[in-house]
Amino acid sequence: MRVFLFLSLFFVCDYTFASIKKDSQKCTTDLVTIDFNFSGGGNSVCKVISSDHIKILVKPESKDPINPSPWYAFRKSKHIKKILLELDYGEYEHRYFPKIKKINSGWERLNNNDILIKNDGKNVFINFYPSKEEQYISSQELITEDWYEDWYKILKKSKFLKSKIIGYSVQNRPIKAFFSNENINNPFILILGRQHPPEVSSAFALQGFVNQLIGSINLSKDFLSKYNIIFVPLMNPDGVENGFWRYNFNKKDLNRDWDNFSQPETYSVKNFLDNLKNKNQPFLFIDFHSTYKNVFYISDAKLKNSKQNFLLNWLEKSKLELSKINYNFTVKNSYTESNKVSKNYFYNQYNIPSMTYEVSDSEIRSVIVESSRILAKELMIILLDTNRKNLDMAERKGFEPSRRLPAYTLSKRAPSTTRPPLH
Ligand SMILES: [Zn+2]
Repeated sequence: MRVFLFLSLFFVCDYTFASIKKDSQKCTTDLVTIDFNFSGGGNSVCKVISSDHIKILVKPESKDPINPSPWYAFRKSKHIKKILLELDYGEYEHRYFPKIKKINSGWERLNNNDILIKNDGKNVFINFYPSKEEQYISSQELITEDWYEDWYKILKKSKFLKSKIIGYSVQNRPIKAFFSNENINNPFILILGRQHPPEVSSAFALQGFVNQLIGSINLSKDFLSKYNIIFVPLMNPDGVENGFWRYNFNKKDLNRDWDNFSQPETYSVKNFLDNLKNKNQPFLFIDFHSTYKNVFYISDAKLKNSKQNFLLNWLEKSKLELSKINYNFTVKNSYTESNKVSKNYFYNQYNIPSMTYEVSDSEIRSVIVESSRILAKELMIILLDTNRKNLDMAERKGFEPSRRLPAYTLSKRAPSTTRPPLH
């Protein structure tokens, strides 16, 4: 008995000792508490350097090399004195400019003057002045399940839409699809979002785009009487909730899984499409992502049907309106026979225009929403015009004839070999 007690005490003491030395999920000093225990909090841990200096070690979900999207988010208690927070990226580099969420207000960028970037971006120091309230600081806005659920509540009020749980993530979160089906036999556009958790700017674009398609204007009503949309806004709910840099909970990149559908998230979409009662198929595919710049990766230049260059024409027609709000973008032809990326899978499987809609990480949020609305409007105009022409011709040829585009819309730059693919 005595030996047992001694051993128990030894292990308790040893554990306590280890937990003090070890980097922590929560750091408390006599001035402030920092923690990560909330949706999107990520894998970071912290270390107390002194009572007014806490270091945050920004870590990915996997030890293997991963896409350089160093996601961080932390919660800071109120504090009465100035404190210093240090982001330590280890082998990675600072990418996302910190944003702060104050109670009862939206997200704001921190003040430039309070941020010092050192060691080629491997360390970032942020000053925080006394605050009477708890605050969240994050690489991008925390657009997690709650944000989607709030939006879904509005979507569910739309008479044009139905929703369905098409599967469950690795951690058993529902994968939710929405679809319009005024006439289930109408051709449909398939839209996906958030395969990659940190790609928050693309969530604003997807929301703006979809909201415009199902909007209350006559254009949207006409559109929804001739075409359907199916969209899955949140493909990787586990990654988003866990604050991952890239993967799902199985440490797999969902946008490299469209060949064998080994993950429940990608399989749920395939299974849903395969089991559509009317065997209808998508005629256009758009996958929303984020990267350093606004880019549209398109793959329809090689299509051997009437849909050739449909995407180019659409983007070209939208260019003037987009330039008025200073939405600068490039268009890149991107094609490969590998199906691993969703864009290629839908192109190859269905012979349809498919696009990766990449939004700049740092694009002004209101401009993202406005630009996506412009693109949605232009898309509806083109499709309704096509529909009318088809009716006139009394045959289903589909799309407008392709035309030569000015050179500036199409980047001839070869894909970068120095950066890993980002979409
Ligand atoms: Zn991506």
